[in-house]
Amino acid sequence: MQPVQKGAMLYEGKAKKVYATDQPEYVIVEYKDDATAFNGEKRGTIGGKGELNNRMTAIFFELLDGAGIPTHFVERLSDREQLVKRVTIIPIEVVVRNIAAGSLSKRLGLSEGWELPRPIVELYYKSDELGDPLINEDHIAILGIATPEQLARIREYALTVNSLLREHLAGRRVLLVDFKLEFGTDAAGTILLADEISPDTCRFWDADTHEKLDKDRFRRDLGGVEEAYQEMLRRLVGVVPA
Ligand code: 5GP
Repeated sequence: MQPVQKGAMLYEGKAKKVYATDQPEYVIVEYKDDATAFNGEKRGTIGGKGELNNRMTAIFFELLDGAGIPTHFVERLSDREQLVKRVTIIPIEVVVRNIAAGSLSKRLGLSEGWELPRPIVELYYKSDELGDPLINEDHIAILGIATPEQLARIREYALTVNSLLREHLAGRRVLLVDFKLEFGTDAAGTILLADEISPDTCRFWDADTHEKLDKDRFRRDLGGVEEAYQEMLRRLVGVVPA
């Protein structure tokens, strides 16, 4: 495709900025080093995170695109920037879990590390004001956030993404504990996987030691945050520990 020109900033989020381009159907996403947790209560920066998450998201989205999941991803443009299709984000955070951790452990009193009998999908209403509450299909229907058909498609994509990523990561000696996805619709109404897939949005554990290789190191003040993100990238590009 023709090289695109970066235009005005459209939106600044906690971890990314979004810019218009000279082509209305595309936007540029710029990844920042800023990190937040607990709905913005904890703030900091993680050195090199923008670059690392840009690269890891590109690797994951290319893998998923290749396996037939429609995504917004077009190409990585630079260290921190990627070109994506413009979508309207559906305000649902779709969480898929394989192993109990985080809010699931807390809500249901499950030991962190317990392998679930099967993957589960949870839906959260994407709202900073409300603190992203857990919602169900009835809530989504009365709020008019998505149709039942869209929701069925989203669930199907989320579980397929889980299978694909789990298998890919297993080969890199990484357990996919859980992750969060966001979807959007393009001008034609097609549902595309959007946002990012990175250690900011997933729990990754070393398959042998269960060492955390994700943002929980920042959330829980465990130290070694930058090293964990770098290690994840190393594994994704094929450097797997012996
Ligand atoms: P939990 O509900 O246990 O806090 O999170 C489950 C999974 O979804 C984790 O992998 C976590 O990183 C991701 N996740 C849930 N909500 C958010 C969010 O608001 N922002 C980010 N970056 N990840 C989230």
